[in-house]
Amino acid sequence: MRAVVIGGGVAGLVAARRLALAGSEVVLLEAGDRVGGRVASVELAGMRVDTGAESFASRGGAVRALIDELGLGGDVQDPSGSAWVALADRTVPLPVGGLLGIPSSPLATDVHRVLDTRGSLRAYADRLLPVVKVGRYERLGPLVRGRMGDRVLERLVAPVVQNVYGADPDEVPVDAIAPGLNAAITQTGTLSGAVLRLRAAAPPGAAAQGIAGGVHRVTDALLELTRGLGVDVRTGDPALGVHPAPFGGLITVTTAREDLKVDRVVLTADGAAALDLLSDAAPDLAALPRPAASRSRAVLLLVEDARLDAAPRGTGVLRAAGRQGVRATAVTHLTAKWPWLGERAGRGRHLVRLAYRGAEEVPDAVAAADASALLGTDGLRIADRTDAVWTDSAPALAPETIAIRRALATTVLPDGLLVAGSWVAGTGLASVVASAEQAARPRAS
Ligand SMILES: Cc1cc2nc3c(=O)[nH]c(=O)nc-3n(C[C@H](O)[C@H](O)[C@H](O)COP(=O)(O)OP(=O)(O)OC[C@H]3O[C@@H](n4cnc5c(N)ncnc54)[C@H](O)[C@@H]3O)c2cc1C
Repeated sequence: MRAVVIGGGVAGLVAARRLALAGSEVVLLEAGDRVGGRVASVELAGMRVDTGAESFASRGGAVRALIDELGLGGDVQDPSGSAWVALADRTVPLPVGGLLGIPSSPLATDVHRVLDTRGSLRAYADRLLPVVKVGRYERLGPLVRGRMGDRVLERLVAPVVQNVYGADPDEVPVDAIAPGLNAAITQTGTLSGAVLRLRAAAPPGAAAQGIAGGVHRVTDALLELTRGLGVDVRTGDPALGVHPAPFGGLITVTTAREDLKVDRVVLTADGAAALDLLSDAAPDLAALPRPAASRSRAVLLLVEDARLDAAPRGTGVLRAAGRQGVRATAVTHLTAKWPWLGERAGRGRHLVRLAYRGAEEVPDAVAAADASALLGTDGLRIADRTDAVWTDSAPALAPETIAIRRALATTVLPDGLLVAGSWVAGTGLASVVASAEQAARPRAS
């Protein structure tokens, strides 16, 4: 069997390797000049550091299984410590035991520290309010606001949802961001009870883990093994069209160099590119309204300051909307979060990653002030710096992307054409890897 995999992000690499292992002759087409997509790294102060994904969710088990297969299982690490939230007047640890910031115990001390007495009591009202018996909760924002009040939404849920998913909780469908939450609310009769139930059902251990040396080791290893299996990995060679034969048979993938006629195509290019490539195979889908692309900038700093040795803000800080005077939406204290990186950097040397919405330049003075403010340490100075700008052409939780995904679920694609990757499966390695494994499975005959 001959196959083409379009897109050399983690989804494409997983699919290409799986198809090659099953005996297919595979060409992997990557438009850019390197594979890995949104898993990427850069060298800063002699250390190779992730600029895209730097952790993976253990949910579902697909990433861990892949890591074990790649021989990297022994290098998996739990993050050291947990994150904080920057409120209007103080910066405090995020409560433990929640889901998307929704607390399971509204009166717990760590929740009270964020919400104060008024906010905690309002959140506790969730235990007294009846739940909807007919229909379901549609959007996350109104659900949280209605059951637990504004403070839970603004101080806990919005910082998590905006920073981790780049989405506005008022727009996000509950079922898209928290599958199973609606059912758990019906079963338990409260939102906090539902959170508790979903957390109890999750596998034990840290929800997100990393790898000593960085998550980019996964895509590096995949590339090496994929090449070793004979996959023809072509960078700088985008797919320009995908044309199924009118009555079944081989699919033609056009590139600038040649037309490839194959039995199977796995399309993992990011959202907008994938939809363009579906214009022949699924014209109705390709014609649906597209979401606005979302851009972000990651600013990676080397800071030489022994005051950070004590990890004053745990693994980092999410900024709540009420916090003025800071442009970054979050900071990750990488050398505090990942033991391997802390050891590599040594005492007094710290790597800090600031996240900004949009691609706009961030002057050094702004980055240094943001790092100082969020990490609660005055006058931090930048010893070295590198930036990465990211574009997501189909943010997974944008209403248009959700509509496209729904339409895709009811669209019959031509035999042999499969789709995978974050635009169909959702953001994050857990969803992406599982979708690629699924798309590369042998066809039922
Ligand atoms: C800053 C940042 C931090 C993140 N942090 C985390 C994290 O900590 N944990 C986590 O789980 N996830 C994280 N993510 C999300 C995660 O990185 C992505 O969900 C995942 O890497 C997407 O993989 P993918 O293969 O679906 O898509 P991509 O990585 O986008 O790959 C798609 C590839 O297709 C290529 N392409 C496009 N058009 C064509 C064409 N016509 N022909 C050929 N190739 C084409 C693109 O060049 C690209 O390389 C983060 C993302 C970013 C940007």
